[in-house]
Amino acid sequence: MTRSDTLFEQAKQTIPGGVNSPVRAFNGVGGTPRFIEKADGAYIYDADGNAYIDYVGSWGPMILGHNHPKIRQAVLDAVENGLSFGAPTELEITMAEKVTAMVPSMEQVRMVSSGTEATMSAIRLARGFTSRDKILKFQGCYHGHADCLLVNAGSGALTLGQPSSPGVPADFAKHTLTAIYNDLESVKALFEEYPEDIACIILEPVAGNMNCIPPVDGFLQGLRDVCDQYGALLIIDEVMTGFRVAKAGAQAHYDVKPDLTCLGKVIGGGMPVGAFGGRKEVMQYIAPTGPVYQAGTLSGNPIAMAAGLAQMEALEEEGLYEELARKTKYVAEGFKALADKHGIPMTINYVGAMFGFFFTEDEKVTSFDQVTKCDLERFKAFYHGMLEEGVYLAPSAYEASFLSAAHDDETLEKTLAAADKVLASL
Ligand code: PMP
Repeated sequence: MTRSDTLFEQAKQTIPGGVNSPVRAFNGVGGTPRFIEKADGAYIYDADGNAYIDYVGSWGPMILGHNHPKIRQAVLDAVENGLSFGAPTELEITMAEKVTAMVPSMEQVRMVSSGTEATMSAIRLARGFTSRDKILKFQGCYHGHADCLLVNAGSGALTLGQPSSPGVPADFAKHTLTAIYNDLESVKALFEEYPEDIACIILEPVAGNMNCIPPVDGFLQGLRDVCDQYGALLIIDEVMTGFRVAKAGAQAHYDVKPDLTCLGKVIGGGMPVGAFGGRKEVMQYIAPTGPVYQAGTLSGNPIAMAAGLAQMEALEEEGLYEELARKTKYVAEGFKALADKHGIPMTINYVGAMFGFFFTEDEKVTSFDQVTKCDLERFKAFYHGMLEEGVYLAPSAYEASFLSAAHDDETLEKTLAAADKVLASL
């Protein structure tokens, strides 16, 4: 029994499944999740004293690596002044100015405490602003766990949504339409059927919750055009991609302008933070200036703002994103070359500092359908092999992996040496 085994058994007594968020339980790959004691730079350390090169980065926030000295110091300094006031602070203005300067489509921004809150609030705002009830999302995209977003496509792409979790009333789910990612025709068909009813489209601009699926050429702009044609808002959920795919997010990388943007993860520097923002005219519709209600006791929390701001400032460093992209390409292409060497069919996708690999014969993976047909057993074997070799990848074939600025060339070489060994054994 490892210490992680013991802790997992103990945790299950008082915490459902032993975890506070399901995917941490390793249900996608089997086995015992590693209980983490500390993390530093590109490495995390488990309760048994094992070190791992970390490609999860707390599911995205740790783009500078773990325990970054500037962020740690900013948090320690902020703590001196108290933990929460529930009243406005100058720090929140600094944060809002920083975000709106970095992401030009966001003319105004409201801070919340998670990505889920950001998307949930943006959708309420879009519905309030347009006076329409339906929303359109994509199969395979995840936007947090609000009722209206835990919805799958019905039996056909054009049917009304069905709850993907018990507890979501079918009466709610029917307002969520589900289209096919990277398939503009599926979106147009839904708008033709409900021309006056759709408040917004929400999507991940690079889908990172079905592994890593970038948008095909023209897809994002096509969505922008459809929204303009029918008077719906375009919400780009950059909770994962914001400040990761590029400094100003995927919307800058692909040059598309949303009405609203959702942020999370990186913007909090590892603290619980989310944000939504966009066109001023739309944002003015939120309380207290407007009628759409939204609030939060800990929203704009001073410690969280200090951590997020320190991270955002560090992200301004010249050449940082180019270097992240170079290293991501190197490790992703490296995986592919090694798979080829060992005769294992694999396809890779990468954008900015996120990547995914697929055990499939398909040369290009652009759809949810293709992702579901990949060789899951091979993924699991690869995953556990890499873990044994000290590399911590996302414990699910449906999640993107992330690189940080702390992953230096030596770390990448070690990762590829591990992959060489593991792929040889598959
Ligand atoms: N949107 C996207 C694109 C996400 O990846 C996630 C979380 N993985 C969320 C929203 C929800 O964020 P949170 O877990 O902070 O509620």
